[in-house]
Amino acid sequence: MAAASIITIGDELLIGQTIDTNSAWMAQELNKIGVWVKRRVAVGDVWDEIWNALDEESKHSEIVLITGGLGPTADDITKPLLCEYFGGKMIVSEAALQNVKDIFTKLNRPIIERNLKQAEVPDVCTVLNNKRGTAPGMEFRKDGKLYVSMPGVPHEMKGIMLDYVLPKLPSLFNLPVVYHQTLLTAGVGESFLADMIKDFEEALPAYIKLAYLPNYGMVRLRLTGRGDNKAAVEQEVNERFAELKLLVKEFMVTDTDEPMEMAIGKILRGLNKTMGTAESCTGGAIASLITSIAGSSDYFKGSIVSYANEVKENLLSVQHETLATVGAVSEETVTQMVKGAITQLKVDYAVATSGILGPGGGTAEKPVGMVWVAVGNKNKTVTQKFQWRFDRARNTDLTVQNALNMLRKFILSEHDQQVK
Ligand code: AMP
Ligand code: MG
Repeated sequence: MAAASIITIGDELLIGQTIDTNSAWMAQELNKIGVWVKRRVAVGDVWDEIWNALDEESKHSEIVLITGGLGPTADDITKPLLCEYFGGKMIVSEAALQNVKDIFTKLNRPIIERNLKQAEVPDVCTVLNNKRGTAPGMEFRKDGKLYVSMPGVPHEMKGIMLDYVLPKLPSLFNLPVVYHQTLLTAGVGESFLADMIKDFEEALPAYIKLAYLPNYGMVRLRLTGRGDNKAAVEQEVNERFAELKLLVKEFMVTDTDEPMEMAIGKILRGLNKTMGTAESCTGGAIASLITSIAGSSDYFKGSIVSYANEVKENLLSVQHETLATVGAVSEETVTQMVKGAITQLKVDYAVATSGILGPGGGTAEKPVGMVWVAVGNKNKTVTQKFQWRFDRARNTDLTVQNALNMLRKFILSEHDQQVK
């Protein structure tokens, strides 16, 4: 199996100022096409470190992908280093020069010497045109191995990967067929799930692997088959997947590799129904997630972010007395928030949140992490109290995901009743 190493270059990566998202993305894409990502290394903008990393990774992998250090500033040294490493000299690439000129013409900005330097490349590389920026990608070959250097800017790296690198790898290396099927479960713990499907898992052939991917109290199950024969691998994985779906049926959210917000969107679109949110502690995070899906305007109408009590009262008609007696973080308040949202936003379904996400603000009766969620339509509301124990960001994510799952279940149960 072809092995790959990813070298990410930049001082900012080492100190955590920039998070290395490049290697995660690249690894995912490589994995999909059957390349074994064997090693990922980050080094600073330091000549010897980069050189040594190239030497080292050449020992492990026949594919070495490099990002970063290609900017026009003095700190970026990857290009001259690669030139020396592969024994070339710098020349101007006419194609890269044209690309730089085109970009500056489009931007209507004057080109300075420093920008023109971006078009210089080692004469021992093949230039990979960067449609999204001035720094060209560079491909080198040595001792049967492939080296590709790409800019650190994530969307420029992605462009070069998608345009050149990923399409090319299957013709250069003998890659196995890799086929995944994924489903998402909610409302069941990882260990319980593992017990439920123990026999299934044990009966899997060696070339099909089952992975448990837990997040936010939900567990994704992924079956991955590898082999040489595409049709055979797909058929076998699909058969096992059908079996798995039956086993976990009562907990399954979706049988495709899609997030909760997309699963809900599909249900609403299919039913031709709309939704909205009334959010206190989540501050619009549910609305933000729902609208991250293109086309969500088909079913999402809006949100009332009612952080203050007066907004809950004035815009959602939560009763003053409720807020004064049982308080904002209560079953009564979220129930009224759902009703208010349905009336004000004129939607079929609404979800409401109110809680204390931390780190401060808790009391003996309402400790940090306590959250009330309500979902409903004009006739009925379902509520649930959660007690999270993490930091603010994770408590928020957990609330958002679980609120969406409550809404999903509510919509499905209502729909079933209508069908009956
Ligand atoms: P460079 O090619 O070194 O000039 O990098 C250009 C920009 O891309 C800088 O703002 C970096 O912080 C960013 N960048 C570099 N490497 C990575 C990486 N591995 N992941 C995400 N961003 C990166
Ligand atoms: Mg840099």
